[in-house]
Amino acid sequence: MDIVQHTDVVVLGGGPAGIAAAVAASRRGLKATVIERNSFLGGKATAAEVGTVCGLYHFSKSGGSAYVVNGFAKEFAETLQARSGTQPLHNAEGLHYLPYNIEAFKKICLELISHDNIIIHFNAVLKNVQTENGKIISASVIAEGKPLTIFFKSLIDCSGDSVISSAANLPVLKTDNYQAAAQLFTMEGVAEDNEGRLGLLIVKALKAAIDQDILPEFYDRVYIVQGSLKNNCVSLKIGIPLPVTYAPGNLQELKTVAQSFVENLSRFLIKNVTAFKNASIQHIAPEVGTRTGQRSIGKYILTEEDVLQCRKFDDAIANASWPVEEWGQQRRVSMCYFPEHDFYQVPAVCLQSATITNLFFAGRNISATEKAIASARVMGICLQTGYAAGCLAAAFASGFSQNDAVKQVQKEQL
Ligand SMILES: Cc1cc2nc3c(=O)[nH]c(=O)nc-3n(C[C@H](O)[C@H](O)[C@H](O)COP(=O)(O)OP(=O)(O)OC[C@H]3O[C@@H](n4cnc5c(N)ncnc54)[C@H](O)[C@@H]3O)c2cc1C
Repeated sequence: MDIVQHTDVVVLGGGPAGIAAAVAASRRGLKATVIERNSFLGGKATAAEVGTVCGLYHFSKSGGSAYVVNGFAKEFAETLQARSGTQPLHNAEGLHYLPYNIEAFKKICLELISHDNIIIHFNAVLKNVQTENGKIISASVIAEGKPLTIFFKSLIDCSGDSVISSAANLPVLKTDNYQAAAQLFTMEGVAEDNEGRLGLLIVKALKAAIDQDILPEFYDRVYIVQGSLKNNCVSLKIGIPLPVTYAPGNLQELKTVAQSFVENLSRFLIKNVTAFKNASIQHIAPEVGTRTGQRSIGKYILTEEDVLQCRKFDDAIANASWPVEEWGQQRRVSMCYFPEHDFYQVPAVCLQSATITNLFFAGRNISATEKAIASARVMGICLQTGYAAGCLAAAFASGFSQNDAVKQVQKEQL
């Protein structure tokens, strides 16, 4: 027999968007239930250990990192910065980002949802949803191996992969090839204290080995996670030389290829780069990082033009300041910038389902084209869309108008 629970708002996924959504609903006085398949929180930030939060600050070549976000996203970033003991960094192109400590990220998420109004189910996956009169009324979940049925008033898909839309048989936005996946891992015992110099040493050694056919060409896709060199440890990000299709078996194949890439690369570095002579693998991030997946279809689909022309919307709920960043199957990332000092906005209609009145989306599965999500997927923006979706879902559950909810979000976030 299924265990039955009742809540106001269900949030699928405990990544940056899901945490923000649950906090928003609880701050509106509603009961939120989070369903998370992992045994910890943070999504890609902690499972794939991506290492920096982007999209928090203005796009500007001048030194100081000025927040472009407000409200919950800023609050989260300030706590994360203080607990991680880090400072925002910026590059020559004017992009600013915050390095963070993985354990601090997990702990902050847990503290935020340790609230009377929030229930969390870890090790829980959504099996299916039941729809009635244009609404989704309940979700069947397997939590800690036991069947559970949850009834709710509204729900938010923060799974990153539009899991709820798929379960409800709704059309989704897909592509044949998604952005390239990457694996993060950390090495300890590294005898170098300058990140730039270490990066050059790695690139030089790999290039020489590739030129001499000692290593295959894809070994050029190795990057240092910015700001990660600390206490003789450094985190490396490697591009996985296999297309991301989400076809059956694709994720397992990515994981297998990533594992052998990490092992071979670390062996190579230890043997060929003096700074790694006494180094070893400290740990490998538990998940391969898949950057984009299928997206839900909302009342509006955010486009590349909206992003690059810095479009502002009357129903804006987020300020978004990150270029279109696309990782393919080659070393160089493709970046498409909008004018410095400007930003675009994400409208509420990208978070509201086109067909199901009580379904909302946030994070990297909002209603956006592949190019637009290549910008809007960064965490500074996911935190904002998450918080806004939580407010919209709470308003729906309470019978309040969506317009009023948008105005309230604008006051807090913009
Ligand atoms: C390699 C890589 C590098 C990146 N670098 C950066 C960076 O430097 N800065 C930056 O800001 N962003 C970066 N990103 C992007 C960013 O990490 C993600 O886009 C962001 O975490 C998305 O947040 P989210 O909450 O929407 O989804 P996610 O972080 O993907 O979280 C989704 C959550 O839902 C859970 N879930 C999924 N399906 C189910 C299910 N069926 N049942 C239950 N739970 C489920 C997952 O376990 C997860 O916890 C990077 C991403 C990758 C892959």
